[in-house]
Amino acid sequence: MMNIVTEIDHWRAIKKQLIGKSIGLVHTMGNLHAGHVSLCQRSKQENDITVAAIFVNPTQFNQARDFDLYPRTIDKDKAILEENKMDYLLLLNADILYPDQYQVQVHETEMSKILEGEHRPGHFTGMMTIVLKFLNIVQPTRAYYGEKDYQQLMLIKKMAEALFLPIGIIGCPTIREEDNVAFSSRNSRLTLEQRNHASHFPRLMQSTLNTEQITVELKKLGFKVDYIVDKWQRRLGAVWIDEVRLIDNIPL
Ligand code: AMP
Repeated sequence: MMNIVTEIDHWRAIKKQLIGKSIGLVHTMGNLHAGHVSLCQRSKQENDITVAAIFVNPTQFNQARDFDLYPRTIDKDKAILEENKMDYLLLLNADILYPDQYQVQVHETEMSKILEGEHRPGHFTGMMTIVLKFLNIVQPTRAYYGEKDYQQLMLIKKMAEALFLPIGIIGCPTIREEDNVAFSSRNSRLTLEQRNHASHFPRLMQSTLNTEQITVELKKLGFKVDYIVDKWQRRLGAVWIDEVRLIDNIPL
């Protein structure tokens, strides 16, 4: 049975009983898919106890509309986490997580300013702030993040190092659908036609074309391109299909 925890004090009382056990943390914004499940499974393999957390974090959305339209499927998510034998599900609300009304924030001044940071002002500050809150509340042995959000993963590792967090930050490979599109909660906002069209994005990212050529091809196909860049030995990209934004990256 998965225990649902809705108060920080309740989690602290539970944690007191878990002396000597390793704890893995997988925190997500819900609308769970195979990518999230892969993080849960990896944590189960490597830890005695796994804590899943779901919170749609308002401070990391740079557009109110994107936050409003973010898919919320909590009942289905609970069933998926039960199926995957998660030990605890942490469901903390915004009042609990932001007692300071977001007056205290985690800023990074270099890596957070480029690529996603350039196109989504404030996104990484919101992300790092909520990640640090979850790491401090749960105090896990290890926490699991997807390479799908590669810049996010690099920033979390950088924050953990800079702030001496005694927690293993574990990156996990991107899980893809049959047509190579990376699983993403935002995919569920695409119509069937848009979803089919989306497969051009990973196809071109993985082709032998260079970043300029990929950009030209994507634009010809009607995508709006935020960036296609080679960096950190990866090829990283962000595009729009109408009003849905997709990101992806591959190792070079
Ligand atoms: P999200 O719910 O989108 O905030 O994602 C929660 C975690 O799942 C993050 O660490 C993501 O990088 C990871 N994740 C999202 N999509 C995928 C995917 N397709 N493959 C692997 N990890 C993923």
